[in-house]
Amino acid sequence: VLELKDVKVTFGSGRSAATVLKGVNASIQSGKTLGIVGESGSGKSTMAKAIVGLVKPSDGQISFSGRDVTKMSGAERRRMRRAVQMVPQDPYSSLNPRRTIGQTLAEAIDPLRANPKEHSEKISYWLSTIRLDPDVAERYPHEFSGGQRQRIAIARALAVQPKLIIADEITSALDLSVQAEILNLIGRLRKELDLTMAFISHDLDVVHHVSDEILVLFHGEVVEQGDVDAVYGNPQHPYTRRLIDSVP
Ligand code: ATP
Ligand code: MG
Repeated sequence: VLELKDVKVTFGSGRSAATVLKGVNASIQSGKTLGIVGESGSGKSTMAKAIVGLVKPSDGQISFSGRDVTKMSGAERRRMRRAVQMVPQDPYSSLNPRRTIGQTLAEAIDPLRANPKEHSEKISYWLSTIRLDPDVAERYPHEFSGGQRQRIAIARALAVQPKLIIADEITSALDLSVQAEILNLIGRLRKELDLTMAFISHDLDVVHHVSDEILVLFHGEVVEQGDVDAVYGNPQHPYTRRLIDSVP
């Protein structure tokens, strides 16, 4: 579904230029989850933004469903913006605080409001998928806990029925028990809905629970990449070993 070839991203110019991604190669196959791990500042979110087109690579290629994302026409770009859904760290970035959960989900399901009659059934379906009562459709984001809000942000992304989901640090702001609940949810949905996903976290232990493959970023470079059990069970790079050793 997605392929990055020698992707470089540089911010600024001249003496203040900083190369944040230094030639990243990666791919995600349909139905698989790629876990992206790295410490703060290693370039994880920049990689996510490059994939969705928010950041333009200075070099290299990103292709989505075989099409170069930097060369897409307006219409194609709009289609891709739906086909790739980002779940952010702070659910308020994807949940409008002034709209009810039902309104937000209806917009995700049917942005053109072509079939309003079918909305309530689908809204209930997506709410049940994240184990929330259909009644909550009437409520606003601030009426939920952080973990529930994050589940709703996941449901919003799923309701678009994207080809690729990018989850950027979606458990980082949550306490441990809620983190586990979100990971279990992702783990279950990944199989039930055959999701294709990039799951980003600074925490290798978190990533290893939900990924098929793992990519380790270190100062903008991929230092390790492979099957989850191979990377987690037999890390090759000293940085990855350090990550694993630091898990309590
Ligand atoms: P974290 O775990 O803290 O979220 P990250 O791995 O997601 O970190 P990025 O957000 O990708 O890191 O940032 C990587 C580097 O790029 C940082 O040094 C950051 O300051 C820099 N950076 C990111 N966006 C920009 C921008 N728009 N302009 C200039 N520098 C930027
Ligand atoms: Mg980040």
